[in-house]
Amino acid sequence: MGRFYECHGHVMMRTEDYRASLERMSSFGISYFRDGGDAEGRTAEAKRWVLEHPELGIEYVTPVFATHRKGRYGDIVGRPFGDYKEFRSLIKEAASLGADFVKIMFSGIVTFKAFGELSCPPLEAGEIKELVNIAHGEGFAVMAHTNGKDAFMAAVEAGTDSIEHGVFIDEECLQALAESGSIWVPTLAAIIAFSGRSGSGDKARYTARPGFDAEITRLTAESHMASVRRGAELGAKIAAGSDSGAFGVPAGSGTLSEYALLWECGVPAESVIAVNELIRGRFRR
Ligand SMILES: [Zn+2]
Repeated sequence: MGRFYECHGHVMMRTEDYRASLERMSSFGISYFRDGGDAEGRTAEAKRWVLEHPELGIEYVTPVFATHRKGRYGDIVGRPFGDYKEFRSLIKEAASLGADFVKIMFSGIVTFKAFGELSCPPLEAGEIKELVNIAHGEGFAVMAHTNGKDAFMAAVEAGTDSIEHGVFIDEECLQALAESGSIWVPTLAAIIAFSGRSGSGDKARYTARPGFDAEITRLTAESHMASVRRGAELGAKIAAGSDSGAFGVPAGSGTLSEYALLWECGVPAESVIAVNELIRGRFRR
């Protein structure tokens, strides 16, 4: 296996052509791609196509589609459930289509309109625990989209296998994470794309994505980088996933940017490689 892993990407986001995305990943030396889901479930087709093209040198895993509570965030990458029974049947359907793991949305997305604001309320801690238990009971590892400290803490306590994004978390969350078995995939590249950040360290410049406030996007990017820096100090397990395919995160180069950002936040390269490998070991059936 090559060294570069994309532990959180979307081959079908902002494109209709998963083949081009995967060929580009391959040309950048990326040998592992863990998808975050697609609403139409076309990642099942992408998975078959990758298996038919071993020359790409990519191992590709997918939840097929992600799942979210009806009325909450998640339509863009998955399908809704109204209750646990519906959640269980969605898992079974994804399994029949070749899902390697389960992806669940525990919170909204960062709005970048006000600092700390998310697009909808998070799931309750009890529900998070039950969803993780159900997925584990069906033999699946869980990848969970999670922002905000309450949902993050609940995700750690529920034994979520990998927690995605994790924007707006605090010291308590990071300490709990470091003491847990959960892996964190902070998707720095996707968060920082909104801030229009260029350069690095003291020389970083911020211009903001058009239509967004430069101060809010800069504060969000900096607070997220500070969380990753603190997580690294505490020895939390942090993996490289850029949210490739999302706004401002091109297939291939976006993944390499994530490695550079993790490096800038003080996450040791050997640790990233080891934790990526942990993801690869856990997120398969
Ligand atoms: Zn994603």
